[in-house]
Amino acid sequence: MPKSKRDYYEILGVNKNSSADEIKRAYRKLARQYHPDVNKEPGAEDKFKELNEAYQVISDPNKRSQYDYYGTAGGPAGGGAGFEGFYFGGGFEGFGEFGDIFDVFFGGQRGGRRAAPQRGADLRYDLRLTLEQAANGLEKEINIVHFVSCSTCKGSGAKPGTKPVRCSACNGNGQVKKSQRTILGSFTQVVTCPTCRGSGETISTPCDSCKGDGRAKKSQQVKVKIPAGIDTGFRLRVSGAGDAGQKGSPPGDLYIFIQVEPHHLFNRDGENLYYRTKISFVQAILGDEINIPTIDGEASLKIPAGTQPNTNFRLKGKGMPIVNQRERGNQYVLVEVDIPTKLSKQQAELLKQYNNA
Ligand SMILES: [Zn+2]
Ligand SMILES: [Zn+2]
Repeated sequence: MPKSKRDYYEILGVNKNSSADEIKRAYRKLARQYHPDVNKEPGAEDKFKELNEAYQVISDPNKRSQYDYYGTAGGPAGGGAGFEGFYFGGGFEGFGEFGDIFDVFFGGQRGGRRAAPQRGADLRYDLRLTLEQAANGLEKEINIVHFVSCSTCKGSGAKPGTKPVRCSACNGNGQVKKSQRTILGSFTQVVTCPTCRGSGETISTPCDSCKGDGRAKKSQQVKVKIPAGIDTGFRLRVSGAGDAGQKGSPPGDLYIFIQVEPHHLFNRDGENLYYRTKISFVQAILGDEINIPTIDGEASLKIPAGTQPNTNFRLKGKGMPIVNQRERGNQYVLVEVDIPTKLSKQQAELLKQYNNA
């Protein structure tokens, strides 16, 4: 994770401007088509899940705007708590009524195995960069606070010298049977054991350091390599740098969200940079060579004789690098022509002479 996902709008067969009603209608139509109770074709269950995942995000105005902003790549998997307004794609958790019905249908198939302990949560870190930093790339040490495996008990949660014992509620199976009434009738469902949360073991003598959780909060430096050409909306993943998982299960990932600050000279659009400058009307008429700031120093720009106001010049390859590519974007220079508002007598005289020549 994250694997690149299909666009949620595409999955729902709607577009970015579709209204909530249109989205709901599109979703219902497709949900009926792919519902695993109806559609037994291979792949239908995956389609149905994908559909629900997409709807879960696009039907929620907050999640939708987050999604629109961060693009189609999908959020980190798993539930990293504590990030306001951050959307987590993937998974069926928290889906609500449809999810519950779905679980009833698939409960039996999924059952019979001990649930693996939960993977650690993914974490988010927001990093602001200057345009110069984005142009050059850099290595940066960032400070994060995350859960690490408890060093006292090595993550087991049990006091050193003791061992977790078999859970008596589920007899070590990690699952228990539960009857449930639904609109479709009464079902017996196999659910994760609430006592041991599916691990099949409980801790009789918890570790003193972590109180049995197996994890401890720790502040840590993480070295991140930021590639040249990065832009706002990019997300870097540091695999395994999220929270430690419970009881030795794998850790989550750390996601670094990039924001590139506006620049006082250049406007950026992808790999291209835009710059405005002014020349005198004499320079425009007679031509000149001027110095222009670029993201990596000064460059000279030839102004041909007879340059018209608001001409756009291109400095090829003077734009931003493109991540993981050799080419670079261009810098465009919009040249404005300054018309003087005050002239000396002599200047005015010369212009009159020019006019009569
Ligand atoms: Zn411990
Ligand atoms: Zn149990």
